[in-house]
Amino acid sequence: MATTSIRQNLLQIQERIAAATARVGRRPEDITLIGVSKTHPAIAIQEAFQAGVRHFGENRVQEWEVKRVGTNNLSATWHLIGHLQSNKAAKAAKLFHTVDSVDDLVVAQKLDRARAEAGLPANLRVLIEVRVAKEETKSGVEIAALPELAEKVAALPHLDLAGLMCIPPFFGPVGAGLSPSPPVEAGVQPGAVSPADAVRPYFRRLRELRDELRAKLALPLPVLSMGMSHDFEVAIEEGATEVRVGTALFGGRM
Ligand SMILES: *Cc1c(COP(=O)(O)O)cnc(C)c1O
Repeated sequence: MATTSIRQNLLQIQERIAAATARVGRRPEDITLIGVSKTHPAIAIQEAFQAGVRHFGENRVQEWEVKRVGTNNLSATWHLIGHLQSNKAAKAAKLFHTVDSVDDLVVAQKLDRARAEAGLPANLRVLIEVRVAKEETKSGVEIAALPELAEKVAALPHLDLAGLMCIPPFFGPVGAGLSPSPPVEAGVQPGAVSPADAVRPYFRRLRELRDELRAKLALPLPVLSMGMSHDFEVAIEEGATEVRVGTALFGGRM
């Protein structure tokens, strides 16, 4: 994708963020845009950085290990947003500033140990990914198991638990109409008339879970990473502080 289109895409995303924050009395500065660069080459990351993006998300440790060679001149924050296997945890703890998809204590313990061994000055930021839709066989900790996992992750000395992340089911772009017969297993709420209505309860649930944990653990937990290209406006209306945007910024993936 040409530089001009990444730049133009970024402007459009910034307008959408501004409109969404304005609707609910929030400020655009309170939203961190994470450019999801998976499958796109290092040159695309360079272009997005030139246009002003400072946070990037990758979903595979190995892909990032190769691509970072082409981006190590950039002073950006690198997020791992994809499911992490425990045999990649040690590497991830050294290659990323934050792992936004922790859903397992063993993986968290490995990240903690590897971060200590790497002798890096700062703790590794982590988010816990929550499976907000039971119907989906996606990654993320079950809601019922979240409090215990959060308490144990928060106690690990080389990790900073900053908040929660989720990937709700896909109902279509929020500006469009709900497809005539959405699959039952997608968990569409009864009475939902648009993709925005359908997805909103999942984002709201993540915020409520964060609020409950905040009280229980007496931790600030300021971060809610939720919302992608097709639904980030709704996520912002429901309290997202970080949105993970791939396609709308970089174009389609191979
Ligand atoms: C790919 C991906 C995104 C970005 O998706 P788009 O629909 O391209 O914006 C966000 N979050 C996660 C976890 C992803 O894997």
